[in-house]
Amino acid sequence: MAQIIDGKKISAQVRAEIKSGVELLKRERGITPGLSVVLVGEDPASQVYVRNKTQACEAVGMGNFQHNLPEQTTEPELRELILSLNRDPAIHGILVQLPLPRHLKGFDVMQVLDPIKDVDGMHPLNLGNLASGREGFRSCTPFGVMRLLQEIGCELEGKSAVVLGRSVIVGKPMGLMLLEKNATVTYCHSRTRELDQVVRGADLVVAAVGIPRFVKGDWIKPGAVVIDVGINRLPDGKLAGDVDFEAAAQKASWITPVPGGVGPMTIAMLLYNTLEAAKKAHV
Ligand code: NAD
Repeated sequence: MAQIIDGKKISAQVRAEIKSGVELLKRERGITPGLSVVLVGEDPASQVYVRNKTQACEAVGMGNFQHNLPEQTTEPELRELILSLNRDPAIHGILVQLPLPRHLKGFDVMQVLDPIKDVDGMHPLNLGNLASGREGFRSCTPFGVMRLLQEIGCELEGKSAVVLGRSVIVGKPMGLMLLEKNATVTYCHSRTRELDQVVRGADLVVAAVGIPRFVKGDWIKPGAVVIDVGINRLPDGKLAGDVDFEAAAQKASWITPVPGGVGPMTIAMLLYNTLEAAKKAHV
């Protein structure tokens, strides 16, 4: 039976470290790190995520500047807001909550962000830095997964890692971060053939597909580490991950639950990146 990777507990440790870091920065340099979260539209899941982010911000002593824009916001209006946040010295990190309404092109919007305030690593410069193994902001969800793997002492060098999903925010950067640690990375996606066979060879499986219980227990190699990024709302209102948790836990050595696994880490790494951005700021 697998050991549970307790994302709540690990994220609480990270947040405690950040809180001390925020206090130190205030005391020594008079800087209060500030995060601006921009939400466009009224997607209920996004509203919950944004609320959690702003609360977490306040809990570690950071300033939070939330902007809720109506669904019909135009691209020039959104760009204008981002440009004003880029100029605001009280704001060190800017996060544009995804997904954006259909009429707004995420990639174009992210180009307007000042890369030094792009705390979710979505600007092409930060994505390029990741791809070329240079320093830069890392997308918070895969960055949080890396921290979980570090906490459980998961050695990645030479291991076979399979990433399910290739989104710009989770799957792609996830594979690159694992590659940075010398794992042998395979990406699977909606066009992959015999996906179950690929997963069966994996020492590490990261599922970011968005389909409840997509990964079956008998796909898991005995002793593999299983990271479930998925957050799916079931018809009965409960949350389910992308992995059949009960069955996979019979085979895996370590596994993340949903909720309480990757989710809390995403917010913790957002705070971490915002603190790092504030440390680099000029007074
Ligand atoms: P997305 O819809 O952008 O991407 C899904 C990916 O899954 C695509 O690359 C697609 O190719 C792949 N896919 C779809 N159907 C497939 C199939 N049948 N077989 C194999 N691959 C398939 O989603 P996303 O934004 O990457 O999010 C993925 C999941 O992670 C969602 O459940 C989302 O809610 C969750 N998520 C969680 C966090 C967190 O903090 N824990 C953060 C972001 C996303």
